[in-house]
Amino acid sequence: MVLKFRGDFTQQEPIPEAGIEAAVAVMRHGRLHRYNTVDGETAETVLLEQEFAAFKGAKYCLAVASGGYALTTALRACGIKHGDAVLTNAFTLAPVPGAIQGAGGRPVFVEITPDLVLDLDDLSAKIASSGAKFLMLSHMRGHLVDMEALIAITDAAGVQVIEDCAHTMGANWNGVPSGRSGVVGCYSTQTFKHINSGEGGLFVTDDAEVMARATMLSGSYMLYGSHAAGAPNETFEDIRLETPNCSGRMDNLRAAILRPQLADLPAQAERWNERYRTIEAGLNQVENLTLIERPAKEYFVASSFQFLMPNFDADQIQTLVAACAARGVQLKWFGADKPVGFTSRHDSWRYVDPQDLPKTDKIMAGLVDMRIPLTLSMQDCETIATIIKEEVSKF
Ligand SMILES: *Cc1c(COP(=O)(O)O)cnc(C)c1O
Repeated sequence: MVLKFRGDFTQQEPIPEAGIEAAVAVMRHGRLHRYNTVDGETAETVLLEQEFAAFKGAKYCLAVASGGYALTTALRACGIKHGDAVLTNAFTLAPVPGAIQGAGGRPVFVEITPDLVLDLDDLSAKIASSGAKFLMLSHMRGHLVDMEALIAITDAAGVQVIEDCAHTMGANWNGVPSGRSGVVGCYSTQTFKHINSGEGGLFVTDDAEVMARATMLSGSYMLYGSHAAGAPNETFEDIRLETPNCSGRMDNLRAAILRPQLADLPAQAERWNERYRTIEAGLNQVENLTLIERPAKEYFVASSFQFLMPNFDADQIQTLVAACAARGVQLKWFGADKPVGFTSRHDSWRYVDPQDLPKTDKIMAGLVDMRIPLTLSMQDCETIATIIKEEVSKF
């Protein structure tokens, strides 16, 4: 009998009971808006910001409506002007170029390496050719570039780094938490990331002025004084009058759901990584299948799995994806001409000037991607790897 996988690749775990109870309490008292508190009460949103700032070792934290909103806000708060070039990974998710466009910037794509991280030689070349003063660094699918080498390049060139940590909330590079090497770190709490409130985002920085502008941008009216994890009140003196309100706050209901999940994140990260390592072991030494090397300095949180099929053409990869799907294993291919589901490529973002990215195109033509929700058991991970291995071996 053919081995089949009958589980689900999109099913997340339930919200912890403590989160459900806290959310019900918020609904019972009805004060869902972060600025709607009674005397002596600290809003769930503020508590989440304090806890997340502590988790990241950041001075300041702002909770917002989505990860994409955090990214747009970061560019604005860092002083982007209309038409400014913003460097970013050629391999990333649509909210990243979308955020650049939304902030009035112009995406300039940087090539990636076969390890799926930014190509630092191309970064240097593109800094020189574009004159960009911003890099929106996307840790796409949780792969961290050599952060010390990157920051040496950007510091020398006076480029401000905004980190897209949608896939690296609990990760670190050589002990430095992801999102803490650049000026701003942005995180998503959308359902498919590391903590789940349906939609939501978090923003951290040590820069008081950047934080004050982000707070005003998020729509704090003149209530910024209640942001216990926010910039000092005196920072707002001019900023509060100079900064437009582009409402994108988080509410207390989502914050209530997120706080217990944040407390659990380090333990959850280990569970994700056990699953990753099990699939990785099952796919080791498979002919025609290249695993992504994970550097010793990288601590990742693997909510997805990628591998490369550099010798396969488009037809072969599509045949493989279909054969795995028939056995219940959902693989995504980044080489398709048209964007499907969550996968899209730099050339599918037609609002961006077309750019020549031969290295990235070649890598993405052989790039296969799979989700690893925590609802998969270790046995499931072994089954999934066996099925992929068997199907790849048929070629
Ligand atoms: C999910 C995601 C974001 C932002 O997500 P939102 O859906 O706006 O919260 C940003 N970058 C990457 C790489 C993502 O996967």
